[in-house]
Amino acid sequence: MKKVRFAPSPTGHLHIGGVRTALFNYLYAKNAAGEFILRIEDTDVERSSPEMAEEISAGLSWLGMKWDHEPYYQSHHFEKYREIAFRLLREGKAYRCFCTPEEIEARKKSAPAGLFKYDRKCISLDAAEIERHAAKKTPFVIRFFIPEGVTGFKDRVHKEMKINNSELDDYVLLKSDGSPTYHLSVVADDSSMGISDVIRGDDHISNTFKQILLFRALALKPPKYTHLPLIFGADKKKLSKRHGETSILEFKHKGYLPEAIITYLSQLSWLPGENKKIFTMADLVQKFNLQKLSKNSPVFDYEKLRFLNSLAIRRKPPGAIYDILSEDKEFAAAFSEFAVEKKEALIELVKPRMKTLIEFKEKFKNYLSKEGPVYRREELEKLAPGDKSGLRKNLGVFLDRLSALDSFDSAGVEEALRSSAEEAGVKAAALIHPSRFALTGETVSPSIFEVFAFFGKEESIKRIKSFIAHSG
Ligand code: GLU
Repeated sequence: MKKVRFAPSPTGHLHIGGVRTALFNYLYAKNAAGEFILRIEDTDVERSSPEMAEEISAGLSWLGMKWDHEPYYQSHHFEKYREIAFRLLREGKAYRCFCTPEEIEARKKSAPAGLFKYDRKCISLDAAEIERHAAKKTPFVIRFFIPEGVTGFKDRVHKEMKINNSELDDYVLLKSDGSPTYHLSVVADDSSMGISDVIRGDDHISNTFKQILLFRALALKPPKYTHLPLIFGADKKKLSKRHGETSILEFKHKGYLPEAIITYLSQLSWLPGENKKIFTMADLVQKFNLQKLSKNSPVFDYEKLRFLNSLAIRRKPPGAIYDILSEDKEFAAAFSEFAVEKKEALIELVKPRMKTLIEFKEKFKNYLSKEGPVYRREELEKLAPGDKSGLRKNLGVFLDRLSALDSFDSAGVEEALRSSAEEAGVKAAALIHPSRFALTGETVSPSIFEVFAFFGKEESIKRIKSFIAHSG
């Protein structure tokens, strides 16, 4: 059975790169009817926080990635890691190192930049020396002994990978406080959990060599590896805060829909087909194929995501959009006096132009507030520069016809507007633009006749009158 894990360290927010890793793990597992495990890598107790672990679970749940079994916390398994480190020590595959962090730091400084390797000073301490340290309780770490040779693996994306072991450092397995390093806990868990495939960012490639050597030292079979190309920002540098929002919950708060996010992420190194369409999680699961991943680093394009979000919004029923908007209690309270049908009609009316859910809130303010919209003076001046008396007169003609209408549907209003324009001797646009502004306080809107129909006769007339009063 395929079994994969998403293994975030809860030391910061869940970022878009991590979400893509989670998504590809999830799709791979579910496509093969396998298991997707959430493993919280909280061995760095100081830097890890339960809030971040919560946030990670909340982010995955929001996007529809349900993990199998209870989440696994590495901090609950320190004993297991310690046993493995000591086993390697007994077998001569690891050794105690008593060098202090200060000594290591000093040696690092005198080595050419970036080229420091632990010099194996402690590799051949004799039993008596070790005894002396033990008597003094000198703190020590356990280092893994990197054997000579060449280490290679076949990566699904990067194909044949190889390194000469001489480039690797005798890295620490167990720290002096008894806690494991990342490599030790990852290898211990990937093997004891029966992880079949490791899918993670390609910033982990150099770690993979080290981990494979550890698997071999323990006579264990390493999983299959797939390293996903890192996501870049527009400047071809690793995506970060400088480029825009990156934490997944920020996208949620900014009004993105999960469908848009997973569709967009699926295009970063993989494209499930068309790139102008929303895919559901079920579609993606069904189509996923790890063999089809590209090796190139994808560039995160916020505009593309906004475009997909607008598509996702369009296909979402108004009731579902309203439910999401109402998770904001303040918003829900502000419009509680309006009938749900009215609110859903508004969502339906404006949704073709919305790129994020936040934009609906602005529309609610302008379309539903009792006091009517705020008429911004500079917008009004652009619409009708200088003297407004002609504008008021034309709108007056139109108001008379609107008041006389029996059926206030979009066709009826359109007819009334066109004949008012004729009577006033102006183009229809000379009434359309001011009417839009009068009804909504905005200079763009859905079809103005639909907007009239949405407001109904009484409210439309009220708003136009109020606008005439304001334009004096
Ligand atoms: N915990 C590691 C991280 O957050 C990932 C470990 C892995 O996938 O092997 O970068």
